[in-house]
Amino acid sequence: MPLELFNTMGKQMQPFTPINGNTVGFYGCGPTVYNYAHIGNLRAFVFQDVLKRSLSWLGYPVTHVMNITDIGHLAGDSDEGEDKMVKTAQERGQSVLEIAQFYTDAFFIDMDRLNIERPTIICKATDHVQDMIDLIKRLEDNGHTYMAGGNLYYDISTFPDYGKLARLNMDDLKAGARIDVDHNKRNPYDFVLWFTKSKFENQALTWESPWGRGYPGWHIECSAMSMKYLGEQFDIHTGGIDHISIHHTNEIAQSEGATGKQWVRYWLHNEFLVMDKGKMSKSAGNFLTLQTLVDQGYHPLDYRYFLLGGHYRSQLTFSWESVESAKNARKNVVQRIARLLETSGDYSADPRSNSAVATYLDRFRQAIEQDLSTPRALAELQGMIRDTKAPPEAVCAAVREMDKVLGLQLIEEAIELNKASGQARAESDPRIDRLVQERAEAKKAKNFARADEIRNLLKNEGVLLEDSPAGTIWKRSSGERS
Ligand code: AMP
Ligand code: ZN
Repeated sequence: MPLELFNTMGKQMQPFTPINGNTVGFYGCGPTVYNYAHIGNLRAFVFQDVLKRSLSWLGYPVTHVMNITDIGHLAGDSDEGEDKMVKTAQERGQSVLEIAQFYTDAFFIDMDRLNIERPTIICKATDHVQDMIDLIKRLEDNGHTYMAGGNLYYDISTFPDYGKLARLNMDDLKAGARIDVDHNKRNPYDFVLWFTKSKFENQALTWESPWGRGYPGWHIECSAMSMKYLGEQFDIHTGGIDHISIHHTNEIAQSEGATGKQWVRYWLHNEFLVMDKGKMSKSAGNFLTLQTLVDQGYHPLDYRYFLLGGHYRSQLTFSWESVESAKNARKNVVQRIARLLETSGDYSADPRSNSAVATYLDRFRQAIEQDLSTPRALAELQGMIRDTKAPPEAVCAAVREMDKVLGLQLIEEAIELNKASGQARAESDPRIDRLVQERAEAKKAKNFARADEIRNLLKNEGVLLEDSPAGTIWKRSSGERS
């Protein structure tokens, strides 16, 4: 069965066929690096990772491009509010680039902790301003722009398809007045391509351009960088659902307005992670980070497991109870795999050597092929490792396969667990335990000579005794037992 994906463009499931043979060009909107990513943002990046892993696993080599927004993203997505980067830099008394570097590093630490594979290409907006200027020039040549009040705007009335992704209606668009209307705009949905008369006196980073010294609007970076690295037409573009009506809508107007061609084939959007109390946002300051979860005793992979338990197109509600059950579920899975590994010895068998295991793998694949259903895929994994009739050798090998998509480090974690319990077993020594017990009894019977004799005997073997209120503890250089 072919891979089927839900395309926001057209709002339907579609068989996936790449433009160029089997290889896939995939652009995912990256983070705005003015603060730590919150766990909602991280849902978007775990989703991108699962999509990329799934494509690779299904035999499509992927070029995954991710941008880092380090300029121009205003608090509102449609040119209103302050510049997020500049605002944080001013608050902290640091430069915009220092802020960007700090939070970019923090972002990749989170990515690593969540076992998210590095995108093939990571591109910063500040490194690509010339590409943006070149693209804006093409839009100007094609008659899509106008200057007003010192800024260069995109005139959406010149792009009849405007709003096709979000199914916005042109009449509604004309009527749709915004709260913060920029009076320079001919239409409230026109948007800035290049700011010269900055709304913000202290705009830190500016560049020369044909329209004067200034800086780009937020949306142009994604059009410019995606086409630079993936060509004018590519396969997949992703982001959270909040990007559909403005950011991605404007990206389409820019890219297709410049090239006159269809830009992206498949648009995939992840639903939001919400808190019990509603939306989580960086700007509102009410957000949890991955570190908050770690501080509460959770492993980052517990959070990944929690996310995989929901389909990417369903809203997911975060609660401490649900992350607790994800933690327990992951622990059980790893423990089971650890036991299976002890029996099988390794995971190098052919997973299809057993027909029951092959069936689990087939159903796992079908779940992924049907719009990346990770909840169903996880259920197949769970069923397989609980199936006492399935041979451990084939099961362990199939776990390895499934984990290429899930990215839960299941085999690695199970090996670690077995190593830790093996070490514990090696460090426990019944003979020493018996001698320690005998010494305690000798002391109780005031037979101090025997007690000292045992202490010295053990000392000569490199075992030290420490009397504590909880009893006697013995120590070797490698560990400690009581
Ligand atoms: P930002 O760093 O604000 O540009 O957002 C990074 C990504 O996170 C974007 O794809 C957003 O659509 C996505 N996003 C923002 N908030 C949430 C949320 N609560 N749940 C899921 N995705 C989100
Ligand atoms: Zn984008």
